[in-house]
Amino acid sequence: MPIHEASVLIIEDEPEIRRFLRTTLPQYGYRLYEALTGQEGLTQAAARNPDLILLDLGLPDLDGLDMIQRLRKLAAVPIIVLSARDQEQIKVEALDLGADDYVTKPFGVNELLARMRVVLRHAARAPGDTGDPVFTAGTLRVDLERRQVFVSGKEVSLTPIEYKLLTILVRHAGKVLTYRQLLKEVWGPLRVDEAHYVRVYMQHLRNKLEAKPAHPRYFLTELGVGYRFRID
Ligand code: CA
Repeated sequence: MPIHEASVLIIEDEPEIRRFLRTTLPQYGYRLYEALTGQEGLTQAAARNPDLILLDLGLPDLDGLDMIQRLRKLAAVPIIVLSARDQEQIKVEALDLGADDYVTKPFGVNELLARMRVVLRHAARAPGDTGDPVFTAGTLRVDLERRQVFVSGKEVSLTPIEYKLLTILVRHAGKVLTYRQLLKEVWGPLRVDEAHYVRVYMQHLRNKLEAKPAHPRYFLTELGVGYRFRID
């Protein structure tokens, strides 16, 4: 059980989804606020100051991407977007604009809860705090202070680009990162359209760090979006 309940604002016009969250989230210790329109969502976000926002990208009154920019101006609250299957491009733009993650409808409660835990944990950190200097997941260990990487206790040698890409993925472990975000962080703002760089280097990381590179356990592809480092 969480020490104090986190508050979640859902901005969504579909009654089935609101009903689903209304019956499930309180069971897991979350306090839920509901808004049915974008305008109401902005008002409630300002009034309630929630710990997390779940935002439908297809609202009746306001554009979903516009909503993200306006919510971002209010507070540094994490945002998970709820997108429909045919909204692939908007989903990527939402992430690039600062949404923290997404779930595609229809989604299960376990998937949503896992995403919520990851973004709340990231948000709980102080700015500049990158977490534990030693990151461990399964057989993989990354010593961020000494810049050393181990698989099953054996040190693996990475190139500077490979190492940089790896550290960004593990620092955002559990969260999806778009091609654009990875390119900007690793190669700089002038290379944000060179998605193939990321694909090539991700393959290097899989070859060096995964037991079965063709069936990755850690470095997961998010189709049409980017990559996610799996932690569960
Ligand atoms: Ca909708």
